[in-house]
Amino acid sequence: MRKWWALFLLVAIPAAPQPAPLATSSINPEIHASLMHDYTIDVIVKPHAGDAWSRLAKRITGDGMKWKQIADANGAGDKLNSSKSVHVPLRLLRPELQRQVVESIFPKDHLTDSGWRHVVTGGSGIEGESLWNIAEWFTGDGANYPSIRKANPAQGLSTRPGDVIVVPTQLLAAAFGGSSEGQNASTPATEVRKPEDDPVERTSENDHVPATAVEAVAGGLATLTYDRSASEPYAVYRLQKGEALYSSVAIRFTGRVYAKDVGDVLDRIVKFNGIEDVAKLRVGHPVKIPMSLLLPEYLPENDPARVAREQQKRESAKLAKRTRAKGLGGVRVILDSGHGGRDVGTEHEGVFESTYVYDVMCRLKGIIEKKSAATVMTTTKSSDTGYSIAEDDALDDAPNDQVVLTTPRYELDDPVIGVHLRWYLANSIFRHAIREGIAKEKVVFISLHADSLHPSLRGAMVYIPGERYVQGSFKKSEKVYLARAEVRERPVVTHSEEESLQAEGLSRDLGESIIDSFENDGLKVHPFDPVRDNVVRNGREWVPAVIRYNVVPTRALVEICNLGNPRDRALMQTRAYRQKVAQAIYDGIVSFYKEPEGRDSRQQTADSR
Ligand SMILES: [Zn+2]
Repeated sequence: MRKWWALFLLVAIPAAPQPAPLATSSINPEIHASLMHDYTIDVIVKPHAGDAWSRLAKRITGDGMKWKQIADANGAGDKLNSSKSVHVPLRLLRPELQRQVVESIFPKDHLTDSGWRHVVTGGSGIEGESLWNIAEWFTGDGANYPSIRKANPAQGLSTRPGDVIVVPTQLLAAAFGGSSEGQNASTPATEVRKPEDDPVERTSENDHVPATAVEAVAGGLATLTYDRSASEPYAVYRLQKGEALYSSVAIRFTGRVYAKDVGDVLDRIVKFNGIEDVAKLRVGHPVKIPMSLLLPEYLPENDPARVAREQQKRESAKLAKRTRAKGLGGVRVILDSGHGGRDVGTEHEGVFESTYVYDVMCRLKGIIEKKSAATVMTTTKSSDTGYSIAEDDALDDAPNDQVVLTTPRYELDDPVIGVHLRWYLANSIFRHAIREGIAKEKVVFISLHADSLHPSLRGAMVYIPGERYVQGSFKKSEKVYLARAEVRERPVVTHSEEESLQAEGLSRDLGESIIDSFENDGLKVHPFDPVRDNVVRNGREWVPAVIRYNVVPTRALVEICNLGNPRDRALMQTRAYRQKVAQAIYDGIVSFYKEPEGRDSRQQTADSR
């Protein structure tokens, strides 16, 4: 049995995590908007009595069909509960409402001949709204931020209150005098993409959360009591000395890690408890947490959801028969540096995920080849520098020149296509290995990333494919895919239930081995549940596509650290740390293939671990 992760938090300073909005305004009696501390604009709409989703959507967005996007944004089903206010993404509002919202929140803004003149307001820490935020509000898409930066050459990536940013006319959404109605609404691309297909990590949600956030640290055992008779059942947790509500409750018990999600959950808990000032909570204060927010492992022992999850874990562990491989003989390691080329991944303060994880991958490849008998294959490669290891601490900006090594190669123009080609390629490598006579348990797939989470979080986290998300068949049939041999070889991917269960078990073992060696090597590990079988974000759960559609039974996505945290970010910019990370992952692979101490691996069962 693994050590119990969720433990006491020793938090130095009780911080006020989610203060009142920076600005709030009423557009009309039913629409209110606030500028939140993470510089998102939250628009809240009060439904009419007896309203239906489509009617509300028609009134607010001009298009009844947009109801689904609004319902999704609220994590709601097809039936609107008209007694509850709903959040509506700004970009979905009718143009005139968008403009009213923005003008009321930023009264100094106005339209000029060259474009929209935005005056940075700030109010949350030293930095003001990010260029991403600004691009999102005025052009409808945060990804337009490089064009805004180009138009304001003196502007760095971060802003300060009082800075003036001009958004050029040709970029503006219709609401702000631009010509493109299309940019106003969500682009077709975002509509057809499922969240699990979207590898584009955007920093906007996590930028500018107060940098004073206290680091979340794990400690002792969590004790919850439950009240299931209430109209909304809840658990009660008593705050310990020095614990902050967001880390002790929101992050720990609900599993949220993204800044916006942590904020949303915190809002909900604050309201649910009628807490007036989060900074004034005393030690021992009973905090009620709606049970619908809890991670399954924090539900009562006999709760069906918890029972089902534990059952699934046991079954997957039973099927996960590890193989021994001394010196990694006969092992094939497929390494995937999660981004590259024009796909830069997440970016914080000029630290680009793609650049740094590629360097870690090259180091890891070097270690495996030098110290073991395993063979290494990669999904991407730099056209210019190959796998050479950087000699600098801080590395050059992205974009780089990595390509996906399919036949023919893919230049990584589109990150989503890139992700699908990565797993198609991995699946092809896997099939060839099997044909060569390599046991399927001797192939390992590791995708390397760096995270963009709430700034209080540090350290490594590993995602593995939870069985319940890996089902059915899937294929890509667009030209760009079928042009590649690895896709044509087998366009359709299918996972049987048994395969998915076995993959979950083997992958969990690998994930735990890697996390253990991070700890043994003195590297930071995520304080709560560092091995996770799904991503939780914006009220949705999924498994990242690169491991979801992958057929290598033992596969994991490693988030090396949290680039949203200043200390992790500083570490990433040192060679020594990147080398240590590569070594720790190598040690994790080695221990995964090592005979468990004092045991015959063939007898190994779920109970022994
Ligand atoms: Zn990534």
